[in-house]
Amino acid sequence: MKMTKLTGRIVFPDDPCYEIARKDYNTRFSKYPLAIIYCQDTQDVMNAVKWTRENCISIRARSGGHSYEAFSILNDGIVIDVSEIDKIIFNETNMEATIGAGAALLPIYECLWNSGVTIPGGTCPTVGIAGLTLGGGFGMLTREMGLLCDNLIAVQMVNAKGEVVCADRCTNPDLFWALRGGGGGNFGIVTSFTFKVHPISDVAVYNITWNWSDSREVIKAWQAWAPFVDERLTSIIDLFTKKDGRISSAGEFLGNEDQLKCLLKPLISAGNPIQVDIQTIPYIEAVIRFDGGLGPHKFKNTGAFVYHSLPDEAIDTLLCFMETSPNKDNSVQFQSLAGAVREIPPDGTAYYHRDANYIMQYITRWKADKEKEPNIHWVESLRRAMLKYVNGTYVNWPDVFIKDWPKAYYGTNYQELMQIKCKYDPENIFHFKQSICPD
Ligand SMILES: Cc1cc2nc3c(=O)[nH]c(=O)nc-3n(C[C@H](O)[C@H](O)[C@H](O)COP(=O)(O)OP(=O)(O)OC[C@H]3O[C@@H](n4cnc5c(N)ncnc54)[C@H](O)[C@@H]3O)c2cc1C
Repeated sequence: MKMTKLTGRIVFPDDPCYEIARKDYNTRFSKYPLAIIYCQDTQDVMNAVKWTRENCISIRARSGGHSYEAFSILNDGIVIDVSEIDKIIFNETNMEATIGAGAALLPIYECLWNSGVTIPGGTCPTVGIAGLTLGGGFGMLTREMGLLCDNLIAVQMVNAKGEVVCADRCTNPDLFWALRGGGGGNFGIVTSFTFKVHPISDVAVYNITWNWSDSREVIKAWQAWAPFVDERLTSIIDLFTKKDGRISSAGEFLGNEDQLKCLLKPLISAGNPIQVDIQTIPYIEAVIRFDGGLGPHKFKNTGAFVYHSLPDEAIDTLLCFMETSPNKDNSVQFQSLAGAVREIPPDGTAYYHRDANYIMQYITRWKADKEKEPNIHWVESLRRAMLKYVNGTYVNWPDVFIKDWPKAYYGTNYQELMQIKCKYDPENIFHFKQSICPD
């Protein structure tokens, strides 16, 4: 039998590039793959999948490397990295863009901006399009334009046999359903995505800051307003620690400044804002403004969807954790959802949490290793303390502490996902700690 040859740019442990290539964005993890294959095209991905099968070697797919639990790297296996498959082709006639699965968000936004269009992706400039889209993908345009996966038209993927498979509404519709929210790394290695694009020009943005003592009032006002306000407005709140002393809110509006000022009234009248800034700026400047990327660092983030406004006791719990945080830089971020996300039912794609009003992210990061345990303990205790007020969490914020993760990420869509997994990857070639099992 003819054996497959590995192709692409291959980085072995003795290569000077290995030290960087072996790491993901979350530097809490340190893994040692046998090699990292930087695929240059779909054929390289096919060869890598076939070769690793022939040699019984475990694999992980990697695009931007931003998995919270570093699910895109492994010890003693091969990382099939698509980050050098990053072409962006805009088709003006169809208002579609075909994007290589390794492209990072900022180059995508910049390239599409040159043609006056965009896709509703996330805020971090270095997140990869593959992981983001496959888990859902939300950002500052979500309430108007839907999740990133809702804007997906077609996908090209290499399956467990190393063959190319296409998926869209007509071709392999079950796979297409699963790839819209089922999470990265489960069904195959995607090599390109085709998205519907949206015209974009100037946007109105705001930023409001209050003293920490206004937190309770601000959270109450925001949650009664942000998920229900005009869908053209998507907003966030950053609740910082008491030691930091602030709470702030920011948002992006697809309309003019005067309309935004009017829409903001219920929020501005909460507490005593110490700074209010409302501006009209080109969309691409807003992308930079909402850039949440700090660069690779050690962190443990987790979170939860909120379907019903948090009662006072839940807000008190949050505030108590922010008072006793072991680290001044810990925070909780709230991101408004609903709007266009709700236009599709929970079983319309694999992304289940369509009915959530918003999502909260519990964030901790540190530098010195001795800070790791107290911070991880803090974030896990916070997650547990809030469980009775929330419903499930986002597959793109995976957390290995969540025991019943199929229910938390996928709700009642998990059964269907297992059947699709069984059809496309019955031997479970694509597996990791929280991957979908073939049923
Ligand atoms: C700083 C930061 C900011 C973020 N901001 C946002 C945000 O604004 N909105 C939001 O929705 N999410 C956000 N996220 C979460 C983000 O969506 C996930 O971390 C996402 O999985 C990252 O995708 P990636 O390709 O960069 O990561 P990777 O680690 O490369 O991949 C993530 C998962 O997808 C798999 N995968 C990678 N490439 C492929 C492929 N080609 N085919 C199939 N599977 C593949 C991997 O094996 C892994 O399981 C953020 C994360 C970070 C760290």
